[in-house]
Amino acid sequence: MTLLDGKKIKLEILKKLRDKVMKLDTTLGLAVIQVGNDSASNVYVKNKNKMANDLGYKFEHIHFDDNTSDDEVLSKIDELNNDDSIDGILLQMPIPRHLNAKKLQNAITPFKDVDGLTDINIGRLIHGVDSLVPCTPMGIIDLLNMYNVSIEGKCAVIVGRSDLVGKPLSALMTNNNATVILCHSKTKNLGYYTRQADILVVAVGKPKFITKDMVKEGSTIIDVGINRTSDGLVGDVDFEGVKDLVEFITPVPGGVGQMTVAELGNNVYKAHILRKKSNIR
Ligand code: NAP
Repeated sequence: MTLLDGKKIKLEILKKLRDKVMKLDTTLGLAVIQVGNDSASNVYVKNKNKMANDLGYKFEHIHFDDNTSDDEVLSKIDELNNDDSIDGILLQMPIPRHLNAKKLQNAITPFKDVDGLTDINIGRLIHGVDSLVPCTPMGIIDLLNMYNVSIEGKCAVIVGRSDLVGKPLSALMTNNNATVILCHSKTKNLGYYTRQADILVVAVGKPKFITKDMVKEGSTIIDVGINRTSDGLVGDVDFEGVKDLVEFITPVPGGVGQMTVAELGNNVYKAHILRKKSNIR
């Protein structure tokens, strides 16, 4: 079994990116909008701030309280859309339930949508047009590529169909010529599908959900899950149970989560280049 070491690959990606960023004659800017005080979000924003600092990006953290209205957030997004010093805008999820997440997400100009979650960028992804792609799915593809795990012709089974991970990943895997099976909570006989997988990606949010009997020998396992338990952070896959059966597997922590941060750094750079090419503010 070989570990797919997200931490190591993240450092390699960030090193290459830093070299490209240093050649620019401008400082790139990332703005993160957070509403409320979700404890996991506080950690994620801190990690994004660190990544931005490491790359020499300007980092703006706009922190609204729980009672903020859609209009207040929309007005800030509009301001950032028109701020030439900002290349990427990200709405940190989750946001309070009274807010309209889809509307706010889509108010971000697609040129600065570094989460790749606007309807326009998701449409581009499905059509195979170059665009800003959601960070976690992109990180998974890059991690597989860096370890020369071929995707073409493989059976990729994805468990979890969130807008953030499962759905965009199914498009990316399809664009990379995998045969894709997308499973969810209504899938009957899940193990039948997961056992077909050459590449099994799990993004469910349930600790040790995937067990040895659900995994094909010699397969590659990508564990997206981040679950906070009394034993610390654990993934969605029973790592100890499956590790001797598989060829490649991501650890949790130290796997996909690390790649997600690196891809955000990449997307800020890409957003800058795309915006300048299109001559748009
Ligand atoms: P999510 O929005 O929480 O949705 C969970 C998905 O799992 C849904 O599609 C759901 O199906 C499916 N599911 C739930 N129970 C299931 C079952 N018994 N059998 C099969 N499918 C089932 O998903 P998410 O936002 O993608 O997050 C998933 C996990 O990944 C969480 O632990 C999250 O913290 C983690 N995550 C990690 C990163 C990273 O960078 N490493 C990034 C994002 C998320 P339905 O659609 O039918 O409800």
